[in-house]
Amino acid sequence: MPPSRPRIAVVIPVFNEEAVLPELFRRLDAVTAARPGEEWVAVFVNDGCRDGSGTLLMARAAAVPGTRVIELSRNFGHQSALAAGLAHAADADAAVTMDADLQDPPELIPQLVDAWRGGAEVVLAVRRSRAEGGLRRAGFDTFHAVFGRLTDLPIERNTGTFGLLGRAAVEAFNSLPEKHRFFPGLRAWIGFPPAEIFYDRQERAAGQPGQTLRRLVRYALDGVFSFSYLPLRMLTYSGVVVGLAGFVLGLYYVIKRLINVETAPTGFTTLAILVLFLGGVQLIGIGVLGEYLGRVYDEVKRRPNYVVRRKTGGD
Ligand code: UDP
Ligand code: MG
Repeated sequence: MPPSRPRIAVVIPVFNEEAVLPELFRRLDAVTAARPGEEWVAVFVNDGCRDGSGTLLMARAAAVPGTRVIELSRNFGHQSALAAGLAHAADADAAVTMDADLQDPPELIPQLVDAWRGGAEVVLAVRRSRAEGGLRRAGFDTFHAVFGRLTDLPIERNTGTFGLLGRAAVEAFNSLPEKHRFFPGLRAWIGFPPAEIFYDRQERAAGQPGQTLRRLVRYALDGVFSFSYLPLRMLTYSGVVVGLAGFVLGLYYVIKRLINVETAPTGFTTLAILVLFLGGVQLIGIGVLGEYLGRVYDEVKRRPNYVVRRKTGGD
């Protein structure tokens, strides 16, 4: 049971968001001011910002009580920043996770909190629509379609980081040691049947996405490789299929020889195609193995996910 005046942390990773921060503060404050029934804490993670965001965050920490700023030593990426934020929200009764760019509307937070107060340990903000278009949009759609087939985890198609985790879920999340983090997958993995709140995803309010397309692709690959063995299994299957085909072809030539059908010395094209095809399949196989191996290597090094330079605010 949540305490009568629960402490809610809003965890926000920030990377070069000076253009949206003032608007974010304004809208966040409007939301929290209308909810005196909860104690509000904002945990901003400065993920190595190179613009004026750091100054804006420090100014807010000095002026507004309940503001924490966790400054990382460099840019560690969205997932690591999120992990840093949740690690510094462990004293809250629940933590809302959201982006700084106002694609996740702060006005939805009260609904998330109400669902949690109604008994849900995990609350997902589910996109009814997406503002992005073009290549990014196509990428998101393909990823979700493929990912849904790859894993047994019940990952809601249209969710991202936006949502709420209760204290037990935050604790479970913080105890996960892995380096390649795919937040929606981990959130599904820790269990706790989620409640869902629907919203329309906005275009980012200003500035550029800090997540380049390359990073999103890497993030998608993390999702696939850390939650599925299917790529490996597919290698085994294709090996079996190619092996069988080879066997059948061999048998065909032996029989042809035995019953004395003339086999003219042709077939250069066939050979070339076979060699190239098999070479390609093998290289893809090595690549897939490499994806897993590289991740294993990163995990066994046991480096932390992020390094904190400075903490401001908080107890
Ligand atoms: N972000 C971060 N570190 C990064 C890139 C992004 O902390 O290296 C933050 C960013 O400030 C935003 C959130 O992560 O609050 C999502 O980033 P973005 O909007 O660029 O990603 P997208 O909306 O394309 O997923
Ligand atoms: Mg965004």
